[in-house]
Amino acid sequence: MTADTRNWLEFDRAHLWHPYTSMTNPQQTFPVVAASGVRLQLEDGRELIDGMSSWWSAIHGYNHPRLNEAAQRQLEKMSHVMFGGLTHPSAVQLGKLLVELTPQPLQQVFFCDSGSVSVEVAIKMAIQYWYVAGRPEKSRLLTIRNGYHGDTFGAMAVCDPVTGMHHIFSHLLPQHLFAAAPTCRTDAQWRDEDIAGLQALVEQHHQEIAAIILEPIVQGAGGMRFYAPEYLRRVRQLCDRYELLLIADEIATGFGRTGKLFACEHAGISPDILCLGKALTGGYMTLAATLATRQVAEVLSSGEPGVFMHGPTFMANPLACAVAVASIELLLENDWPEQLRQLEAGLAAGLAPCRDLPQVADVRVLGGIGVVEMREPVEMRMIQPRFVEAGVWVRPFGKLVYVMPPYVIEPDDLASLTTAIYTVLADN
Ligand SMILES: *Cc1c(COP(=O)(O)O)cnc(C)c1O
Repeated sequence: MTADTRNWLEFDRAHLWHPYTSMTNPQQTFPVVAASGVRLQLEDGRELIDGMSSWWSAIHGYNHPRLNEAAQRQLEKMSHVMFGGLTHPSAVQLGKLLVELTPQPLQQVFFCDSGSVSVEVAIKMAIQYWYVAGRPEKSRLLTIRNGYHGDTFGAMAVCDPVTGMHHIFSHLLPQHLFAAAPTCRTDAQWRDEDIAGLQALVEQHHQEIAAIILEPIVQGAGGMRFYAPEYLRRVRQLCDRYELLLIADEIATGFGRTGKLFACEHAGISPDILCLGKALTGGYMTLAATLATRQVAEVLSSGEPGVFMHGPTFMANPLACAVAVASIELLLENDWPEQLRQLEAGLAAGLAPCRDLPQVADVRVLGGIGVVEMREPVEMRMIQPRFVEAGVWVRPFGKLVYVMPPYVIEPDDLASLTTAIYTVLADN
């Protein structure tokens, strides 16, 4: 390591917070100087096969010529312009694609800065909807345990109170309703008892509930759990019967990750409000969107105050919108269903041997998501460097060692990734 690198790493340790880390006892961070395809290049020249897609987002891999070109073309015109009173072609193109690709009732697009903000926007829409409809008492949310919806206050209030990592703020958060997490696995026989807890809460509290918010089919950061489509169909039915809006948080699952373009398609349902983020720009920059049905938008826009009360400074940032358009076009050109089928088969075959390890409680795979659940939480400070030594980038949390590689990963690289996981865990 050169003296220069040592210097900037020292500054990083002394001054820069990383996600969920301590400033006085920071974890080791690995210096990345470039990335291309599915490889991250470390400062010392080592290359790591990326298993994380930078948290679900870099679905086409890094440094993609098409996405680079889209960013450059937009940069030459303007990188940003305010969205208040102005509009621009990239926002319109992206809006069109989102309206076309998402379930038909979703027609209205609100662009925001990050996933957490898109959840804030969704919650505000649901609450303002019932306010304008003359039923302001419908202002609570109902959700399921093990959920994760972001780190801002509104989003924190619907994260799992235990695994949600936010319990020290709980006394400041609005008190929403939590049903038991679904236990029916995607492949298991459906049992009505699975929805009984949620149904009871709906029956008891629907007069005060604005919306149900959940992650469809895959619960991400709150536990990497997969559940049966029938559960989601039942939730949709309950929402219709008891006049609740349904907010689907597809920030992690959107754009093909679960094997369907959007996870709601596994159940053939459509939400009233949909949150998108993460893979939206192919991992190039932060952008999210909250889509709503025409009906939700019409109610919101009638009566007092007559406008939807939200408008971030960097709303519909042109650079991000241009890259998002290119990323979606690329996805559609790439025969993503076939990419995902291969990814699913490769993950299933490659991770299966982990089932035989005594430390492993469960192995599950859906689409481009592979999860090895351990019996005990892994020691991050120990295991992270071992993955790096094995030539892969895998970042576990708690008991979960999981990967969601870029869709473009080649079979050989995928095999190296899963073999490295087995080897490191076997030795753990
Ligand atoms: C990551 C994530 C969020 C938060 O998105 P940020 O861009 O990190 O704010 C919300 N919901 C789900 C399901 C997520 O996976």
